[in-house]
Amino acid sequence: MSLFEYRLDAPKQNFYDITAQIREAACKSGVTDGIAVVYCPHTTAGITINENADPDVVRDLLFALDKTFPDRPEFRHGEGNSAAHLKASAIGSSVTVIVEGGRLVLGTWQGVYFTEFDPPRSRKFYVKVLAHCSTR
Ligand code: ZN
Repeated sequence: MSLFEYRLDAPKQNFYDITAQIREAACKSGVTDGIAVVYCPHTTAGITINENADPDVVRDLLFALDKTFPDRPEFRHGEGNSAAHLKASAIGSSVTVIVEGGRLVLGTWQGVYFTEFDPPRSRKFYVKVLAHCSTR
């Protein structure tokens, strides 16, 4: 099996670094040459890749998302979390990471993030690792 499920406690709106879990899934899968698909099965959370060196980058992204997608009285969705749905769609629900030589191909300053927009929540995400299969 190459599908891995992870649980995540998300007490506040934030970018949660899940790079270590993706590395672990790639390692456990035994795949040395392929791709890892990281997927979020929630409608008010997402998955993205961004800088993991300067924490102010994530802080600025959250600030800009709040400014770009404020809650509005015109929203009709009864759950009252349309802004969170908007942020989740803007971020997207999955990323693909190349696995080469048994390692994730990420830039020096890149990390994989689970993004929570409707806290507090108990979340999960999936990592599916697929091997490259040569037909020659
Ligand atoms: Zn909703």
